[in-house]
Amino acid sequence: MTLTATDPAEIWSILEEVKDPEIPVLSIVDLGIAREVKYTDDGRLEIVISPTYSGCPAMYMLEEQIKAILIKHNLMDPVITTRLSPAWTTDWMTEQGRDKLRAYGIAPPEKTSHNKSVLFGGQKKIACPKCGSDNSEQISEFGSTACKALYRCLDCREPFDYFKCI
Ligand SMILES: [Zn+2]
Repeated sequence: MTLTATDPAEIWSILEEVKDPEIPVLSIVDLGIAREVKYTDDGRLEIVISPTYSGCPAMYMLEEQIKAILIKHNLMDPVITTRLSPAWTTDWMTEQGRDKLRAYGIAPPEKTSHNKSVLFGGQKKIACPKCGSDNSEQISEFGSTACKALYRCLDCREPFDYFKCI
């Protein structure tokens, strides 16, 4: 049986249960990966997603995870559509997602529009998620995963991951 009467708001809250495989505090809604909830012409639930970093191996499992959670909620036979254009950017992360990331100890991505200096080769100043100081330096281009860079705060001396912009 296909359910068609389910409130889209309810579907969105179900999608909140799908977490980023690498940052378990962030859902695919926080990340802006889940783009659209709709129904196909034949009444099947359709979720449109724009995956983050195509180079991230963890992303490959996402479709299966979304299906599994929908089915767990009795939303049978969902269609997951991957939309690659326009490509996902860190600008799509919600404010709530940025706050969760900071609380988790990872500096959220700078909005690209606020950070034009990077385009011209300027050194990016990233605020420390622990003390808020932007007196930080990059230690490594790659942090705990390829999607993050490793920084160190020069004030509180703590190293931290920065979620890189794409
Ligand atoms: Zn600090």
